[in-house]
Amino acid sequence: MTGPRFRIAPSPTGYFHVGGARTALFNWALARRLGGTFVLRIEDTDIERSQPEWTQGIIDALAWIGISADDPHFEGPYFQSEYAAEHIAAAQQLVAGGHAYYCDMTAADVEARNKAEGNQGYQGWSRDRGLGPGPGHVLRFRVPAGSTIVHDLVRGDVEFDNALIEDFVLLRGNGSPMFLLANVVDDMSMRITHVLRAEEHLSNTPKQQMMWLALGHEAPVWAHLPLLVNEQRKKISKRRDKVALEQYRDEGYLPEAMVNYLMTLGWTPKGDEIQPWAQMEGDFLLEDVNHSPAFFDLKKLAAFNGEYIRALTVDQFAAACRPWLLAADAPFPADRFDEQMFLAMAPHIQPRCVTLADAAGVVDFLFLPDPVIDEAAWAKTFGATESVAVLRDSIVAYEAVVDWTAESLKASLEATGEAHGLKLGKAQASVRVAVTGRTVGPPLFEALEVLGRAETLRRMRAAEATLA
Ligand code: GLU
Repeated sequence: MTGPRFRIAPSPTGYFHVGGARTALFNWALARRLGGTFVLRIEDTDIERSQPEWTQGIIDALAWIGISADDPHFEGPYFQSEYAAEHIAAAQQLVAGGHAYYCDMTAADVEARNKAEGNQGYQGWSRDRGLGPGPGHVLRFRVPAGSTIVHDLVRGDVEFDNALIEDFVLLRGNGSPMFLLANVVDDMSMRITHVLRAEEHLSNTPKQQMMWLALGHEAPVWAHLPLLVNEQRKKISKRRDKVALEQYRDEGYLPEAMVNYLMTLGWTPKGDEIQPWAQMEGDFLLEDVNHSPAFFDLKKLAAFNGEYIRALTVDQFAAACRPWLLAADAPFPADRFDEQMFLAMAPHIQPRCVTLADAAGVVDFLFLPDPVIDEAAWAKTFGATESVAVLRDSIVAYEAVVDWTAESLKASLEATGEAHGLKLGKAQASVRVAVTGRTVGPPLFEALEVLGRAETLRRMRAAEATLA
């Protein structure tokens, strides 16, 4: 690939964040449309917090949202920890060019001096002391006078007063590279042309741009993507919010719905908001990204997911639900699951599911030896006494029904209800509780048809006996 080079640079220190997924998708859309490259760089220099399983988690999460390592536009993963020598060499280049200098002051020294002088931050104290490397000596960048203008495709030109930026550390006292340096040097050696990332990195950008220039390069195109906020308009965070992409996957969100929803966070697709990836990939422009915070709206995400679920064929829906139907924590034992019964029921529950995981809880009564009857449910029908009478009569009527179909079961219960002065809605409540255990659920008569005459009647008789 010869086109522009994009990248994401996640740290493998936890679950892959939905914000990271949005950043990845924006990069991916552009890399693919512009015939460019999407580089995955794992920033794993925090040895204590980085774990190989998190790296695998990132790769899996990306694959789930369609960013496949097998795609020709994909490059990597590269591991930052393997490039320490390059980071240090770049630091030496900065020293040689007069852009960096050593300093032997510890954090405590800096604090004490600030206290004595009534200052804040590092005041360039070692700039002209001519110190060389040595144990405990940090390397600092010599921030030039003047100001730095970051041209940001989302935020416009952002000007920073260099006087407010202290001479930041490039190499720690033990010689190891700091994040800001490693991040820039890797972007440079990976020939990154566009840096699209979370807004929280905007404050790092003037420092990074100074390094690019000092190392003799032109800065990349910058684009800082708007914050994702929750209902309280607070930045979403793992302490407060559900931010792990994996969690949405595990809860039964469809990747296509997630991708579509994430793309709308900060960008407005042309026309209908619900649209396929190919269209978004074709239309997405950084210039159209809004800089105000984007509300990560769980209700809207759920609505997107419901739409995508309804758009599946019944077979696709049934196949997509399988992992939850057969899961160890499903509400019924896996060996009682019956594919044909589920397929028969699927068209009736598909329109009601917000997530794929919902299906198991809606059809559980089909596969449980007995429905789990919520005792309070009887009170919600019209009381146990009346329920017994309706149940008794509908058992008799159902024994006589010729065709065990939803239609005739409905007609039969309608007649039974009428004899008791009850509308169908009321009359069916007792049958529903007796058979499914609950007062709400999937269309009842379709459920009875699927469950079959023998089992339906057995449950109705059992409920009648218990109530009586
Ligand atoms: N490792 C940084 C992060 O995960 C990457 C910052 C960047 O994209 O430049 O926040």
